[in-house]
Amino acid sequence: MVVSREIRLNEFLIAGTDDDVSNMYRELPERARELQFGLVEDEVVVLDTETTGLNPSSCSLLEIAAIRMRGGETVDSFQTFVDPGRAIPAEITELTGITQADIAGAPTPREAVEALAKFAGDCNLIAHNASFDQGFIMRQANPGELPGQWIDTLSLSQIVLPRLKSHRLLDLAAAFGLSTPTHRAMDDTVALGALWRILLAGIQAMTPGLAARIAELSPQTDWPLRPYFAQAALEHPGVDFSLRRNRTERTQGTSLPPRPDADDIPLSFCDESRIDEAFSPTGALGSMYPDYEERQEQLGMAHEVAACLREGDIRVIEAGTGVGKSMAYLVPVAFAAHENKVTMGVATKTNALMDQLVYHELPRLNSVLGQDLSYIALKGYDHYLCLRKLEHMARADQGDNCDVINMIATLLNFTAQTSHGDLDALNISWVRLPRGDIQANANDCLKKRCPYFPRRCFLHGARRAATSADIVITNHALLFRDMQTDNGILPPIRHWVIDEAHGVEGEARRQLSSSITSRELDTMLGHLSNPKNGVTARVRKRADKLEGGDMLYGVTADIENRIGQIQLVAVEFFAALAELPSPNARDRGSYNIVTVWISGEMRQGHAWRELCVPGTKLADLLWGLNGRLADLISMLEQFEGEFVNQLAELLGVTGSVKDAVDALRLILDGTDERYVTSLQIDRNPRYPMQGLEAMRLDIGESLATDLYPQTRSLVFTSATLATAEREPFAHFLRATGLDRVTDKPVYTSIFASGYDYDHNMSVLLPSDMTEPNAPDYHEAFAQLLYEVHVAMGGSVLTLFTNRREMESFYRELKPRLANEGIDLIAQTRGTSTKSLRDRFLSDRSLSMFALKSFWEGFDAPGDTLRCVIIARLPFSRPDDPIAREREARDGRAAWGRYSLPEAVMNLKQAAGRLIRNSTDSGWLVLADARLQTKNYAKSFLRAMPTQDIRTLTISEIARLMETQEPGSI
Ligand code: SF4
Repeated sequence: MVVSREIRLNEFLIAGTDDDVSNMYRELPERARELQFGLVEDEVVVLDTETTGLNPSSCSLLEIAAIRMRGGETVDSFQTFVDPGRAIPAEITELTGITQADIAGAPTPREAVEALAKFAGDCNLIAHNASFDQGFIMRQANPGELPGQWIDTLSLSQIVLPRLKSHRLLDLAAAFGLSTPTHRAMDDTVALGALWRILLAGIQAMTPGLAARIAELSPQTDWPLRPYFAQAALEHPGVDFSLRRNRTERTQGTSLPPRPDADDIPLSFCDESRIDEAFSPTGALGSMYPDYEERQEQLGMAHEVAACLREGDIRVIEAGTGVGKSMAYLVPVAFAAHENKVTMGVATKTNALMDQLVYHELPRLNSVLGQDLSYIALKGYDHYLCLRKLEHMARADQGDNCDVINMIATLLNFTAQTSHGDLDALNISWVRLPRGDIQANANDCLKKRCPYFPRRCFLHGARRAATSADIVITNHALLFRDMQTDNGILPPIRHWVIDEAHGVEGEARRQLSSSITSRELDTMLGHLSNPKNGVTARVRKRADKLEGGDMLYGVTADIENRIGQIQLVAVEFFAALAELPSPNARDRGSYNIVTVWISGEMRQGHAWRELCVPGTKLADLLWGLNGRLADLISMLEQFEGEFVNQLAELLGVTGSVKDAVDALRLILDGTDERYVTSLQIDRNPRYPMQGLEAMRLDIGESLATDLYPQTRSLVFTSATLATAEREPFAHFLRATGLDRVTDKPVYTSIFASGYDYDHNMSVLLPSDMTEPNAPDYHEAFAQLLYEVHVAMGGSVLTLFTNRREMESFYRELKPRLANEGIDLIAQTRGTSTKSLRDRFLSDRSLSMFALKSFWEGFDAPGDTLRCVIIARLPFSRPDDPIAREREARDGRAAWGRYSLPEAVMNLKQAAGRLIRNSTDSGWLVLADARLQTKNYAKSFLRAMPTQDIRTLTISEIARLMETQEPGSI
C-alpha cells in the first residue's frame, strides 16, 4: 500500500471531532497495512477512467486504468488509452494532460472495455463515485461481461469516515498521506487502491456491533456494500449495537448541575487592569497569537464590553473589519461567566461564526486562560439528528433504494462518532433522503415519552448541557424563537452579546412571522391520509392486530372524511388566491414567484371579500380536524407503547395545523396593525404554490417588550451598524427598539478598522454608465463587466440584486470572457452556495456573479478576490411588502427613514467583502449611475471605508486596473 506523504488528517476533520475518533482515523493507514480482511478482499479490481466529459451518452472514454489487488498486494495492472473518435476538448487536455498524440492508434471504447473485461474477469470492481465509471464502461460492455459487483468507495467513505469534511479522492489521499491523484487514470487508481484498504480498516474499527447492525439494514435489498460490513461483524460475534447504549456511553460524565439565574445572585466583575493584562503582548492574547500586536481598538472594545457587563446597560458597538471584535467580547464574557458561575450568551447570525467561536476561538482562549471554561453551541431543532426517527428508519424496508441505505448507515456511524449530532457537520447530499425526515422537529418531538430524552437525545442533551455551561453560543434565530416561546428553549441567560447585529431585524422578523401555503397544507394532509402509508392507514393496520383496536376505525375514518372536505375547500381557496387582481404581479419578482402586498385597498375589494368565504371555512374545518386528531391521540395513548411513531407524527401535525389556522385567521382578519400581510404565488407549472404571510412590521416593539426586560446587559456589535454621519446609529436604534428603552442606558460607539483602506482600496464610479432603467443600461453594464474582467484577468466578484438580471449577464459574458481565457461561475438556480464558495476560494483566477447570500459573510482573503463590482444599489424591491406598508403609513418619509439606511448598511456589508486582512488590496466598482446623479448618493459614498473615490470612464477604469495598484492617498 502506498502511504507516501505526510498525513494531513487534521485539515480534513470536521471541527469538534472527539479525540477518540480522530485518533482512530489517524491509526487507519497503519491498520490498513497490518490487518487482513478475510474473504471480501480475496481479489478485487480497482479502477478509474478518464473521459471527454461527464455525460456517458454524449461523451466517451479516454483512458482506463485498473489494478488487481490480492490482500494488500497489487498483483497485476492494466492501462489503456481510448480513441474516442473525436477531438479531445481543450479543458479535458488541460485537466488530464491527455493529448491527441496520446490516443493516436489507441483502441476504440468497445475494444478497450473488452480488454478490461478480460483483465477483471469476475472480480468485484472498486471505483470512487462508481456510478460514473460504471456508466461509461457498461455502455460498451456486452451482456455478461464484467459480472463483478460495482463497489462505490465514495459512499463507503461517507459511511465509514463521517467526520471528514470532504470525500473527494484528492482530499482523502491528502488526509491519509496517500499518493496524489492527478486526474490520470493509473495515478488515481493507485491512490484508490490504498484508500480501499483504509476503508476496510475503518469498517473494522467501528464501534463493536455496529458493522453487524449496518449489515442487517433492509435485509431484502441487494445492497452491494453489505458483505463488507458482514465480514467485519465477524470480529465481534454476538455483540449487539444499541443506539441508546451508545449514546449513554458517549454522554457519561457530562452531567453537571445547572447554573443559577444571574438575576438571583450578586455578581462581581473584573477590574480594568485584568482586561489590560489579557490584551497585552504578555497576556492571554499574546500567548494565543505568535505575531500578536496590541490593538487599541480591540482593547477599547473589550473595555466597553466589560463596562456593559458591570454596569448592566446596553451598548451598540460598530467594530470595523480587523478590530478583532470576537476576542474583544469573548474575554470579558469568559471572565464574568467563569468567576460568577453563571451562564452568559453570544448570539451570531451565521452558523459559520458560531462554529468559528466554538471550535476555534473559545478552545484557544480556554487553553491560555487555564480556567477550564465550559461552552456549548446551541442551534434550533432542525440542526439536530432525531435518534427516534433514525432508529425507526433503520428498521424499515427500503425496497431497492440503496442510496437511502447508504445514508442510514452513514447516520448510524455518524451517531456513534459524535457527541453533538449537529447535522450541518455532515457532508452528504440530502437528495435521496430528505433531511426533514430525520431531523428533530419541535412539533413531533416526543420529549418525555422518547427513550432518548433528555440526555441521550442530541438536541435535548445540548439544551441540558447549556444550563451548566459558562458560555452558550447560539444563533439569532434561536434567540428570537426563545423570546417568542416565553423563554422555553434557552436557559435563563441575562447577559448577551449579539454579534453580526446588522442582521437582527431581519432574523427577528422571520422568526415572528406566520404563514400558510398550499404546498405545506397538501403535504401535511397527505401525510395524514395517504391510503398507502398515511398515518391513519398505518394506525388501522396496526389496530387490526390489537385487542380493542377496532375502536380506532371510526375516528380514523372521520379524520379522512374531514380531510377530503378540507382538500376541496383548500383547492377553491388557493385558486381564488392565485386569481386575486394584483397589478403588474406577473411582471414582478424573479421567475414565476410573485409577492403581493395586501393593502387596505385590496381588503376593501370584492375579490378579497369573496376569498374570505372559503378562507374562513378552511380555517374552521382545520380547527375541527385538530379536535379529532386530539381525540385520536388520546385513544392511541391507551395502547401503551404500540403507536409511538404514529403518536409523534400526530403531535407534529396538530402543531402544524394549529399554526396554519392561526396564520389564516390573523391574515384574513387583517385588523392587527402590528402585522404586514402579503400573498405569494409561484407560477412554476410543475410546482405551483400559493401562500399567505403575516410579518411583524415593527420588530423594535417586540424586542423592547419581550427581550430587553429579560436581560441585564446587552452588547450589539457588527462591522456595519452606523448608516449616517449625523446620528449614525439612529436607524439601528429605531429598528431594534433601543430608542424605546427607558429602564437602562443605551450607549453607542465606533471602533474603526485598523486597516489602511486609503492605501489598499479604491472606489471607482464609471461616468459613462447609464441609470438602471435607461434603455442602454444593459449594453453599458455588459461593457463594464467585460472590460473590468479582462483588465483584472479574473478574481472579480460581481454582486447583483436580481436573479434574472444576473443570469442574463452571465449568459452573455461567460462565452465572451472564456475567449479571453477567463473562467466565470454564477450563482444560478440549484447551485449550492457552499460549493460556489469553495470553488471561488480554491481557484485564484476564477470570477463569480452572485446574489444576496454573497453580499455578507463571504470571506475571501488574499488574491482570490481583487475586485468587487456592485451592479445596483441594494434598495428593497418595489414589491417588498414591508417597504410598501411603511410607505402607506409614513408616506415619503418612510424612504429616508428605512429604505435608505437599510440600503447603506447592505452596501457597506458588500464593500466589506473586498478587504479581509491587513495585506489585502482591491478595487470596488460601484456601477449604479445614481451614485453620480442623486442627492442621496453622498449617504452611500460617505459610508465607504476609503476616501479614494474616483469617477472615470469605463475604459479609463480598465486602464487604471492594468497599470496601477489600488489605493493612492
Ligand atoms: S427527544 Fe425528541 S428530538 Fe430527541 S430523539 Fe426523541 S423525539 Fe427525537
